[in-house]
Amino acid sequence: MSFVKFENVDLAYAPGGALAIEDVSLDVREGEFVAVVGPSGCGKSTLMKLISGLRMPSGGYVYVDGRQVGGPLKIVGMAFQNANLLPWRTTLDNVMLPLEIVEPYRSTLKKERSRYEAEARQLLARVGLAGFEDKFPWELSGGMQQRASICRALIHQPRLLMLDEPFGALDAFTREELWCMLRDLWQLQPFTVILVTHDLREAVFLADTVYVMSKRPGRILVRREIELPRPRD
Ligand code: ADP
Ligand code: ADP
Repeated sequence: MSFVKFENVDLAYAPGGALAIEDVSLDVREGEFVAVVGPSGCGKSTLMKLISGLRMPSGGYVYVDGRQVGGPLKIVGMAFQNANLLPWRTTLDNVMLPLEIVEPYRSTLKKERSRYEAEARQLLARVGLAGFEDKFPWELSGGMQQRASICRALIHQPRLLMLDEPFGALDAFTREELWCMLRDLWQLQPFTVILVTHDLREAVFLADTVYVMSKRPGRILVRREIELPRPRD
């Protein structure tokens, strides 16, 4: 049973303009960890926008959880290359931000604040940020900021986590640490992950299935299920 499905999707940013992606079909099962790899400009961010409902396809169909996507989705958490933490908020308050926006958290936040806060602290502890809850973003390293941004993406327990080059700005050592962190989080609380990256090694290390896209317009060239034994097996 597919959770995210693309059927022959095209997208042109301008009506009648050049296609950013062409004839893309994908099938992602619930709980699967999928990576989409390709060169810069092949349409990886475009895929993310289509899944999250920020863009509508020019041709073909996008389904998430059995329904055609018709607008922004709440079941999605996202993280990007830049952590984009709000500089005037502490780590804890940055992580809790989605709870101020997404229902049913928003309307229960006042009453349940201490419970939600405990959950945020627990999530931060899992990624090695215990003790940093009250620090501001500028007091954290780049890797720590990225850990916090992944916590922020997960705090409302999304069924789908979308990651757009989340480790691209980090040094190689920190990047590998964060790979392990992400895999640990995913094992603990299974959610579906769609990771876009230009790092094939990252894709193979993390994902169950890797899609490789061509450069402009983005097309799926290869779909490969990874059968190598990975540390989580
Ligand atoms: P990637 O994330 O793989 O680098 P993108 O999805 O950002 O690729 O871009 C795919 C193609 O769509 C590129 O040719 C890019 O120039 C174009 N594109 C991306 N965003 C826009 C936009 N807002 N308006 C017009 N063209 C865009
Ligand atoms: P994003 O979410 O990646 O910022 P948006 O849908 O907000 O994308 O579109 C604006 C972005 O798309 C800009 O940051 C711009 O750099 C990028 N972009 C890439 N290629 C193009 C293009 N050919 N025409 C217009 N914008 C483009």
